[in-house]
Amino acid sequence: MNVSRRKFFKICAGGMAGTTVAALGFMPATAMANVREYKLLRSKETRNTCTYCSVGCGLLIYSMGDGAMNAKSAIFHVEGDPDHPVNRGALCPKGAGLLDYIHSENRLRYPEYRATRL
Ligand code: SF4
Repeated sequence: MNVSRRKFFKICAGGMAGTTVAALGFMPATAMANVREYKLLRSKETRNTCTYCSVGCGLLIYSMGDGAMNAKSAIFHVEGDPDHPVNRGALCPKGAGLLDYIHSENRLRYPEYRATRL
């Protein structure tokens, strides 16, 4: 492909004009249909406290599921609570990895006890 300097500038100007028009919100409806929705938009937000250590950082836990009988709620995102006075939105690496801890197959889901024989 043989592109002259003049042609190159025309292509660049056309691309820049298209990008600017799209950034200003003048996108065609078909292009807008392919834009992904913000993933936390329809989720349920629950405030909780990290139990890993005694600092007790505040968490925001996001889950899907509306509580209907057949809908199973599933946690898909965990982040620090910016309104919590202890951590102000920050989490240490252990807290930031809580989602893997929640979905771990090795996680204990029920209290365990050892029955004693009398
Ligand atoms: S996020 Fe880290 S520092 Fe905060 S309570 Fe959990 S383990 Fe402790």
